[in-house]
Amino acid sequence: MSNAQCPIFSFDVIVIGSGIGGLVTATQLAAKGAKVLVLERYLIPGGSAGYFERQGYKFDVGASMIFGFGDRGTTNLLKRALDAVNVSLETIPDLVQIHYHLPDNFSLKVDRVYEKFLQNLTAKFPHEKEGIRRFYDECWKVFNCLNRMDLLSLEEPRYLLRSFFQHPLACLGLAKYLPQNAGDLARRYIKDPELLKFIDIECYCWSVVPADMTPMINAGMVFCDRHYGGVNYPKGGVGQIAQKLVEGLEKAGGEIHYQARVTKIIQENQRAVGVQLANGKIYLGKRIVSNATRWDTFENLLPAEEIPESEKKWQQRYKKSPSFLSLHMGVKNSVLPKGTECHHILLEDWEKMASAEGTIFVSIPTLLDPDLAPTGYDIIHAFTPHWIADWQNLSAGEYEAKKEEAAWRIIDRLEKIFPGLDAGLDYLEVGTPRSHRRFLGRTDGTYGPIPRRKLRGLLGMPFNRTDIPGLYCVGDSTFPGQGLNAVAFSGFACAHRIAVDLGM
Ligand SMILES: Cc1cc2nc3c(=O)[nH]c(=O)nc-3n(C[C@H](O)[C@H](O)[C@H](O)COP(=O)(O)OP(=O)(O)OC[C@H]3O[C@@H](n4cnc5c(N)ncnc54)[C@H](O)[C@@H]3O)c2cc1C
Repeated sequence: MSNAQCPIFSFDVIVIGSGIGGLVTATQLAAKGAKVLVLERYLIPGGSAGYFERQGYKFDVGASMIFGFGDRGTTNLLKRALDAVNVSLETIPDLVQIHYHLPDNFSLKVDRVYEKFLQNLTAKFPHEKEGIRRFYDECWKVFNCLNRMDLLSLEEPRYLLRSFFQHPLACLGLAKYLPQNAGDLARRYIKDPELLKFIDIECYCWSVVPADMTPMINAGMVFCDRHYGGVNYPKGGVGQIAQKLVEGLEKAGGEIHYQARVTKIIQENQRAVGVQLANGKIYLGKRIVSNATRWDTFENLLPAEEIPESEKKWQQRYKKSPSFLSLHMGVKNSVLPKGTECHHILLEDWEKMASAEGTIFVSIPTLLDPDLAPTGYDIIHAFTPHWIADWQNLSAGEYEAKKEEAAWRIIDRLEKIFPGLDAGLDYLEVGTPRSHRRFLGRTDGTYGPIPRRKLRGLLGMPFNRTDIPGLYCVGDSTFPGQGLNAVAFSGFACAHRIAVDLGM
């Protein structure tokens, strides 16, 4: 496009990608009357919250421990996002957030009821009774501040001012916790090294970094919402969330195109004005939103040599987390002892918590929604961190063999909590960091950004605006980070900022 041409915008907003962050932005703006187009490279919406079907099983690609579906407060952002476009979803309460299987036979269930959780943890560490309560109670202070306010764009001064006048104490509370990490607080109250390691894995299992590097804002959300709104599984599988948001988007007049891979963000006078697809098609919009990771956005969709200084600085503070090795298994019902919980974490050696194949995460969604598998069978999704570097430069045969060896190492370890797993296996599909990169469109298959070193809480995480006028980012590489409810927050904030910028 030449400089002399004035772009004719067909859309108010174009969103690249239909992850939950992108869809919440799109639905919020469509509900306000904006003309919105979502472009998704894959066949279905959802990204890391998508699904796939094989031989009667409906597998969640990734996420399955879902926050944000509570029915009170303001932090129930997934429910609010659906409500905003007049769609809803049946959810099934999960009564135990996680059953931990930790070194030295340390087994603990995180009960939905806060006091029961504290009792269970105190039974294991009676000498830390007071410290345990003081640490988790402090998390509630963060949560209560968040849960009082409408969670919108912190880049919008009038909203900040309004929030301050309406909830001065909550705002001051959040300002206090914003630069803090969970580990610092934990050490203030707790001395027992094993208990501190437990706090580490409590953080690691969703932030993929230990407590010292986990922002207190995120810890406050997760450690309290599990007892407040609770963990709730969408009936029909996690993929339903994106499907419903798309239904709402279309009802509100928005459009979504699949198999529409954006290869370039078009700029005119250094302003983002449109996108080009792999098939050469061009769409112009007044505002462009990228739901791709920041690395994909600034290194692949824009000229890598023109990356803004602010992004270079961000990359000095944050690096790519590992991806995962995922085992999607169909198993006979008999593999699961009666009373088995939906989510498990298995770790045999504290030193290996953050290593490849150290921590194993397990989800068994059919315990909540049996319709996801054929009668008589369950789904077990087990995943563990892995780096893409270990899966590159392999021949097809070597790649398959490596997948199989890794899968059996995981199955052998899972036999300890599910004896008979090997014998009861009906279906197995293994995903690697390469699969995550290919199917989720995420550079190196990364789960998202993690701090390179200890930072000051969430202070370094960028909001939605970028240094390129007209271009916004949304999703897990923006404030407040990974997780479906977190990226929904990012979507609300992005849509709010754009609506103000468009004068809506
Ligand atoms: C194995 C695993 C387990 C997880 N477990 C949980 C959990 O239990 N609970 C939880 O809350 N969270 C969990 N998460 C994290 C959560 O799934 C993510 O943080 C969240 O889904 C990310 O959403 P997003 O909107 O940032 O982007 P994504 O989900 O990455 O979506 C981005 C979308 O953009 C599309 N796209 C990218 N580039 C282009 C392009 N150039 N053109 C067009 N489209 C493009 C992609 O195809 C994708 O659909 C898990 C993640 C993984 C991988």
